[in-house]
Amino acid sequence: TAEQPTIDTTIKRRKTRPVKVGNITIGGGYPVVVQSMINEDTLDIDGSVAAIRRLHEIGCEIVRVTVPSMAHAKVMAEIKQKLNKTYQDVPIVADVHHNGMKIALEVAKHIEKVRINPGLYVFEKPNSNRSEYTKAEFDEIGEKIRETLAPLVVSLRDQDKAMRIGVNHGSLAERMLFTYGDTPEGMVESALEFIRICESLDFRNLVISMKASRVPVMVAAYRLMAQRLDELGMNYPLHLGVTEAGDGEYGRIKSTAGIATLLADGIGDTIRVSLTEPPEKEIPVCYSILQALGLRKTMVEYVACPSCGRTLFNLEEVLHQVREATKHLTGLDIAVMGCIVNGPGEMADADYGYVGKTPGYISLYRGREEIKKVPETQGVEELINLIKTDGRWVDP
Ligand code: SF4
Repeated sequence: TAEQPTIDTTIKRRKTRPVKVGNITIGGGYPVVVQSMINEDTLDIDGSVAAIRRLHEIGCEIVRVTVPSMAHAKVMAEIKQKLNKTYQDVPIVADVHHNGMKIALEVAKHIEKVRINPGLYVFEKPNSNRSEYTKAEFDEIGEKIRETLAPLVVSLRDQDKAMRIGVNHGSLAERMLFTYGDTPEGMVESALEFIRICESLDFRNLVISMKASRVPVMVAAYRLMAQRLDELGMNYPLHLGVTEAGDGEYGRIKSTAGIATLLADGIGDTIRVSLTEPPEKEIPVCYSILQALGLRKTMVEYVACPSCGRTLFNLEEVLHQVREATKHLTGLDIAVMGCIVNGPGEMADADYGYVGKTPGYISLYRGREEIKKVPETQGVEELINLIKTDGRWVDP
């Protein structure tokens, strides 16, 4: 028989340069990095240390903290020291939220990466006609920004640390707004101006973000940024996120809509899901997005039919039982199907299948092969036995 053509469904990631943040690498083909941010006041040293540990323990690979004042910047030394006793490998990013160069310079000594927002480097022209900028006025302000930013760039470069140029749609600088509008173009130009300053100082440990609270704006901005960077031969990795996504189901869906759309295009090297909930809640969402797209496999992949009138057992309950029994395993695909109406192919080539057979009985599959029929009451136990027989079980 003729060989079936195969379509490669793997996501082709945009080629980016590797940027090291402590012991974690963003970009360069490394797995998409999961990050989040503590919401403790950084001046609360013990609270911050505990929050960073909590996040790290559940899989947050880079932790961000806010550094709004010099006092906050200084306590980062102590926070790092306390973490170092047991958690020396947690890379920390400091958010310096305004044009506070002294703060940024201080905190850069203690942590692995500084995040700046170009929109907050404000040098607007003083005259009354602020509706447009001549090229000379635009460039003059650009030069002031360069002078202000240069010491931080040099400090990070000399310490081999990293910087995120984090543009936010909601806080574009006035001259960018007047020149390019409140648009993805304005966001991209804002980032490019800062990238060029860094490059002119021979600093390329950069990660770029283009966050917006509206998903279509965020998606358009990141796509344009990726395109422009590639055209310019600037292969910087991108940090993805939807700002102010809110909470609950819609917050998760909104974040996923923006982040997953871009990841499916191959865009994005690190992600943060921003929820108005404790940051620990963000981490499973990040990993679920990456798992669903086949970018990282960190848990069991469950395949289950939605159930219908043909379903031969309580599918919701059984799926719950199977999940509870196997959720600690990694690297497995397990299907739970109400019946085998259209053949085992519907199980999406799962490693194991639990399938309704006849009333009161289920069949266990290994791949497409039916292994045995057992009473439904023994289904979950027998599934575990099968996984054990195959040597793929580990105790929780
Ligand atoms: Fe219904 Fe069977 Fe399809 Fe499940 S697999 S939805 S039980 S027909």
